[in-house]
Amino acid sequence: MEVTILGSGSPLPDPNRAGPSTLVRVGGKTFLFDCGRGVLMRAAAANATAQNLDGLFITHMHSDHTTDFNDVITTRWIMSRGVNPLRVNGPDGIELFAERTLAALENDIGYRLAHHDDLEQGPSLNVNSLNDGAILEEENIKIIAAATDHNPVHPTLGFRIEFDGKVAAIAGDTVPCPGLDRLCKDADIYVQTVIRSDLIQQSPSERLRDVLDYHSDVAQAGKTAAANKVKTLILNHFVPPPPPGQEDVWAASAKEHFSGDILVAHDLMKITC
Ligand SMILES: [Zn+2]
Ligand SMILES: [Zn+2]
Repeated sequence: MEVTILGSGSPLPDPNRAGPSTLVRVGGKTFLFDCGRGVLMRAAAANATAQNLDGLFITHMHSDHTTDFNDVITTRWIMSRGVNPLRVNGPDGIELFAERTLAALENDIGYRLAHHDDLEQGPSLNVNSLNDGAILEEENIKIIAAATDHNPVHPTLGFRIEFDGKVAAIAGDTVPCPGLDRLCKDADIYVQTVIRSDLIQQSPSERLRDVLDYHSDVAQAGKTAAANKVKTLILNHFVPPPPPGQEDVWAASAKEHFSGDILVAHDLMKITC
């Protein structure tokens, strides 16, 4: 199993970090988890294309995780020969979200259908909402969804991918909770979005301080990793973004609680297990 952090950023624009999205290659399949800002640019750098994705998984409908959903839809549609339905899985509400995204694309879809005789229909999506505990199985690959806690954003999901005795957990935005523990149990790779609560607490911006109550901070990510006997913790989706060279400072408070490997993600970081 190969996990590539396509975008290690957060809602805050960063010249070096695309928006949240993670590519998982496993058992000959390619799955994309979230589709934040710049996802297909980074996917191209990782030799992945929209048209070859075997599934898109959305953790929640916050804009930073879904900004480029429209780009994935349009690019797959235009770059595919024939009808190539995109499987989209996400929390309750994903069907309406997909419908609205397609509605926003109506002009473009109309232009292209009118211009290209060989295009006979618009983008094809196969959208399914998943509940806590949903299990998708495909050729010995198991993908398990678990409800996470990102209140007041609700519902939200994290995903656990199992294949050939290996486990990767893509947690999404969440504070520690039972669902997160189920995702991470004995995982080889645990990808967690994190904030630095010590820095954010000092911010004069009330709007920034608001994020304190619905994200894991670095220490909490370390505690979750330790409690669930994770092998490698990947810190991701940083708020605020760590300046280059500050990675060790970022990892430090996770290290106080977790003795396994800790990686501070950068775009296109690739981890195999
Ligand atoms: Zn979020
Ligand atoms: Zn986010």
